[in-house]
Amino acid sequence: MLVSGHEKIPLARVDEKDSFPVRDCGGLPTTLINSNMVLQDLQGEVERRFQPKKAASEKLSAVYDNLQLLSRSARVRDCGSYLEFHVTDTEKKLHLSNFCKDRLCPMCNWRRSLKIFSQVSLVMNELELQGYEFLFLTLTVRNCSGADLPATCQMLFDGWRSLYNKKEIFKKSVLGSFRSLEVTRNKKTGEFHPHLHVILAVRPVYFKHGYLTQAQWANLWRSCCSLDYTPVIDIRRIKKASKGLSGAVAEVAKYAVKSSDFLNGSLEDCSSYVSAFLSALSGRRLCSFTGVFSDVRKKLALDDVEHGDLVHVDGDNLRSDVAFMIVRYAWKSGLYVRI
Ligand SMILES: [Zn+2]
Repeated sequence: MLVSGHEKIPLARVDEKDSFPVRDCGGLPTTLINSNMVLQDLQGEVERRFQPKKAASEKLSAVYDNLQLLSRSARVRDCGSYLEFHVTDTEKKLHLSNFCKDRLCPMCNWRRSLKIFSQVSLVMNELELQGYEFLFLTLTVRNCSGADLPATCQMLFDGWRSLYNKKEIFKKSVLGSFRSLEVTRNKKTGEFHPHLHVILAVRPVYFKHGYLTQAQWANLWRSCCSLDYTPVIDIRRIKKASKGLSGAVAEVAKYAVKSSDFLNGSLEDCSSYVSAFLSALSGRRLCSFTGVFSDVRKKLALDDVEHGDLVHVDGDNLRSDVAFMIVRYAWKSGLYVRI
């Protein structure tokens, strides 16, 4: 079925034929859709991108069951069981789904990372126009055990707050930031590695006056976290229009956890990893915009990256005057099938 964006979307099931009729969309331009190509492309995307996350979410649901977190398990099991796409001859957009927004859900965390990537890119584009330059900062402390993970994450958050609010040398140069927590698990040692990825906005003058070396950053971080050792940090300038820019945004957009770090191994192993991640991450704000990053985000009216809409993650819908077709999938016996 072909409809135009300003028309009411039919709720009835839609079966796509091999080609779509050219249709007058209320005086608006008509669109001829090469349906075979578009639908094959969409099918590929559903199989390649959505299906593995949905399968991992089912695994997480089984782990929650094992931990007696029954309502949480039910919510995650149902996550993304329904997908509705709007498809034109050039674009395909997810339009409806039922994402659970669980903190560890692989499907939802993938959607969050797409959303963070999109929002941070939009904000940085605007800040670049305003003449800002960017630094990419990674702040680490020593690895820890699962039992120490909540306290170690707290230390990182406290250290960051201290760096951002109390250190004059930092406040003088840094006019805004986006920071995100990432926690990985070393499969050989079993240790956890919580760390912060941060993009900082500075004025170009920073590179002439007030420039901090890597050693100075490390000392600053050491004092903010009250450590008795010099922590590993990495600081680098992000060059304009370089691969480094998208690489840095991709790093901050990873969003907290990789499901392979807690859904590998026996059910008992997975349950212990999931418990450790849950106790460290529950109720925390894992990413935040501050200063000029926050100002531009508000100006662009972007919604919350962690709790907001996980369907329209690139913040941009189909044009309202373009004809589109509705394609629906449901999760059945471990696969997405067209309905
Ligand atoms: Zn989910």
